Amino acid sequence: MKIHLKQIPAQGLHLDGDEDCPIHDLQAEGIRCAGRLHYNIDLGIAGGALWIRGSLSQPVELHCVSCLEKFVYEIQVPAFAVHTELHGPETVDLTPFIREDLLLNLPAHPRCDKDGHRVCETKRPETVAPDTEGKSDWSALDKLKFK
Ligand SMILES: [Zn+2]
Repeated sequence: MKIHLKQIPAQGLHLDGDEDCPIHDLQAEGIRCAGRLHYNIDLGIAGGALWIRGSLSQPVELHCVSCLEKFVYEIQVPAFAVHTELHGPETVDLTPFIREDLLLNLPAHPRCDKDGHRVCETKRPETVAPDTEGKSDWSALDKLKFK
């Protein structure tokens, strides 16, 4: 995603749209793009620097750490912010900034039931017999000690 500096008016620019997923190369890490990047940003030039503020969202397919199933997770960057000095070139590529913020907002331990829309297989309720026998064994042993 490249910004042409000459197209930014003095009062700044608002951009709202979609781009190709910028993290296509992370499939080896189990992160697959599940849609396009959505951005809603304001940008402008001040004091020889480019500033950007806004929000990003990127749906990706992750693997649940608990049940290992694939699920779609929407990476949200609610406070995307960039401030970068301008050194001559007429275009600035925002992709490295966007990538960095998306990766920072990836869950370290993704779980398919995090948003509450599905039940993780490993968390389905199971009937567990109450373990009272072991407890009574120990209390019997305690009684013996005090005799
Ligand atoms: Zn799961």
